Amino acid sequence: MSIATAIQQIDTQIAGRATLVAVTKTKPVPMLQEAYEAGCRHFGENRVQELIEKQPLLPADVRWHQIGHLQTNKVKYIAPFISLIESVDSEKLLVEIDKQAQRHNRVIDCLLQVFIADEETKFGFAPSEVIDLLQAPGLDDLTNIRIVGLMGIATNTDDEAQVREEFRELKQLFDALRPIERPNVALTELSMGMSSDYLIALEEGSTMVRVGSAIFGQR
Ligand SMILES: *Cc1c(COP(=O)(O)O)cnc(C)c1O
Repeated sequence: MSIATAIQQIDTQIAGRATLVAVTKTKPVPMLQEAYEAGCRHFGENRVQELIEKQPLLPADVRWHQIGHLQTNKVKYIAPFISLIESVDSEKLLVEIDKQAQRHNRVIDCLLQVFIADEETKFGFAPSEVIDLLQAPGLDDLTNIRIVGLMGIATNTDDEAQVREEFRELKQLFDALRPIERPNVALTELSMGMSSDYLIALEEGSTMVRVGSAIFGQR
């Protein structure tokens, strides 16, 4: 299947319910250009080095998402252009993003990554930590970040019921936190679902799906 056909098919399945983030990690620039020509404007990468290499080669209206664990000392390289950092997994990282955004006179949108999987390797906050962070008085000092939602990665399993339950729990947390009103918090985005589980994620209320291999083939 061509990249354009895959994107059309996924767009049809999404049916206006969510934003498609094309996950382009390890894929060469011509493939990104093909996705761009097929209408994709949101691209997700998990390595800073790849982001800074690819960003100048694509049209300026591409919205770049950082989707993988981000080291504090690398924030400065993506701060000039990144649209959304989906993988904020510590308060320390949030403070650094704010500092670097300030240097570039920007406000950088962030998602808090929540640990929902039954696995030990995934990064993220526990639900209780997210609640604490969103209520911490010091959050108001971070004037150059905006927390616009939550992100989660379900367990890598064939057990559909388990994946669905994990997404459902994240959606419940999202709904519970949405009423929070702070100057730099406006929870509108719930990023969940990848190639293997985006259809389930859409059914469970995802507003952003991150799809790589179903568009570009196996890595
Ligand atoms: C790689 C990756 C994806 C996409 O994975 P596919 O299975 O190829 O769709 C989505 N989200 C994150 C955080 C990733 O690292």
